[in-house]
Amino acid sequence: MLQHLGNSALNTLLDIFNLSWRQGQVPQCWKEAIMIPILKKGKRKSKASSFRLMSLTSSCCKLLERIINKRIKPLFNTPQQQDIYHQLTRSEQTTIFRLRTGHNRLNQNLHKVMKVVPSPMCPCGEAEQDTAHLLQSCKINQALRDKIWHSETPLKEKLFGPVDALQKTTRFVEETSLQV
Ligand SMILES: [Zn+2]
Repeated sequence: MLQHLGNSALNTLLDIFNLSWRQGQVPQCWKEAIMIPILKKGKRKSKASSFRLMSLTSSCCKLLERIINKRIKPLFNTPQQQDIYHQLTRSEQTTIFRLRTGHNRLNQNLHKVMKVVPSPMCPCGEAEQDTAHLLQSCKINQALRDKIWHSETPLKEKLFGPVDALQKTTRFVEETSLQV
């Protein structure tokens, strides 16, 4: 039905939608629905419980519902992870982001992607210098690693764990004096 409306009618409808959105109110008549009883398969008509109710709501209201749903859905679908991430300071966020994505100043990325250093290897000489190596195994930072994480901690927790887990990671990086 709505698709047959002309431009000015659509604009008016949009004005009503926007007003409704701003005021948090819906026109009374849009809340009214026509209830249609539908007899369930194999049930007797004489009992009220044999029917299920179908409600026909106003098509304007349905459209408004769809629009609102679209507007607010991203707010609820935001992964909790993102909330945690936003509790970090700006510089902590930058560090975590760089470690997570691999777009960082560790040798592996500087060599393979940026091509600005001659080798992807870590100064320890045992492996390429990337996030996992730095956080989990580089022997240069073993003492610091033991100081910050008292027990073996999975990489996933260091990069995607709760706020305090992420802050341990940023503190570790800060104390290595490495620029990531
Ligand atoms: Zn190393």
